[in-house]
Amino acid sequence: MTTAWKTKPEAPVTPPNLRGAWAAVNLEQIRENIRILDAHSKAKRLCAIVKADAYGHGAPAVGKAALEAGADRLGVATILEGVELRKSGITAPILVLSEVPVSSAPVLVEYDLTPALFTQGLADAIANVVRATMQDPHPVHLKLETGMGRVGLVPEEVADAAEYLSHLPELRFEGVFSHFACADEADLTSTHRQHEIFMSSLSALRKAGIDPEIVHIANSAATLALPEYHHDMVRPGLSIYGYSPAPHIDGLGIKPCMAITGLVNLVKAVPKGTSVSYGHTWTAKNDTVIASLPIGYADGVRRALSSTGEVWLNGRRVPIVGRVCMDQLLLDLGPNAEDAVGDQVWLLGGTDGAPDADDWAQWADTISWEILAGLGNRLERVLT
Ligand SMILES: *Cc1c(COP(=O)(O)O)cnc(C)c1O
Repeated sequence: MTTAWKTKPEAPVTPPNLRGAWAAVNLEQIRENIRILDAHSKAKRLCAIVKADAYGHGAPAVGKAALEAGADRLGVATILEGVELRKSGITAPILVLSEVPVSSAPVLVEYDLTPALFTQGLADAIANVVRATMQDPHPVHLKLETGMGRVGLVPEEVADAAEYLSHLPELRFEGVFSHFACADEADLTSTHRQHEIFMSSLSALRKAGIDPEIVHIANSAATLALPEYHHDMVRPGLSIYGYSPAPHIDGLGIKPCMAITGLVNLVKAVPKGTSVSYGHTWTAKNDTVIASLPIGYADGVRRALSSTGEVWLNGRRVPIVGRVCMDQLLLDLGPNAEDAVGDQVWLLGGTDGAPDADDWAQWADTISWEILAGLGNRLERVLT
């Protein structure tokens, strides 16, 4: 058994970075997932949602891969996410799904970002910038509130808003959209109800002379399972990254695109009764062998995985023991374990048997979206 001082002479894996822990992102699998979703979709267009740094996968690289594979535009949540994509050289249309502050209108226009729009203030601000800079009419997508209970024009105000907007020639009403609250649930009653409201608000818009070319409402759940709601464009996020929104929704062959992995940097035998990590929340019940990994919650390995999660090492599941620290975590390899220094640990994805984001979500009592979006940017993304 090695100790801290004596390590194996040769590590079996040479890490691709200086740190010995990284996230490998498989861009070809991103492209394949886009092709699967696009082939299944009845819509002419696909807007690949790459908000939150492409759900932790790295937005510029994923955005380019998605466009290569058939997406015709990208969707982000914030204006700076859009600016980052533009600065990386992406020229395809970029939809900003959340309304931006009025003061951001000049940046929207400068970077040619297409905003979600549902307030008179932003409509006026964009119109003013377009007039002052003598630009072509700026594309916008009107956001309708249909039952998410969050943001957008409520049905009662659609007609008035449309009347007002129809007098703003500086805006081009390219799209109109809404967002489902419960499309990933087995009971689709409220989803169908939302769609009815969407259709009636849409006809109110059209009556006022606003007839957007691109009507869209389908997130991953609706893209995969509700083809009748695809309209002119689907807007998948999670499914691009290979995860189905719910166990009952068929993923159609999409596969995860990321592996979080690292190399064991220390193995040591400890006697029964040894407590490890902050708070001494875990104590060895028997003599055992503890391994450490140079990755922690600052990288997105949730602290909720403390003494709960598992990793894949040398062909078996191994438990994470004690508190996950900011930069390190510990594994219990069991008594008489092999000398694993330098061996590759699969924390998430990358090989059969490794946990995936759904396992992490279960351990951390959350959803796969939050696991992926919460991966810190300190964790180096290595493109494969
Ligand atoms: C995040 C988001 C999506 C993508 O949702 P998924 O469930 O990840 O597919 C689509 N549309 C809007 C408006 C969003 O905010």
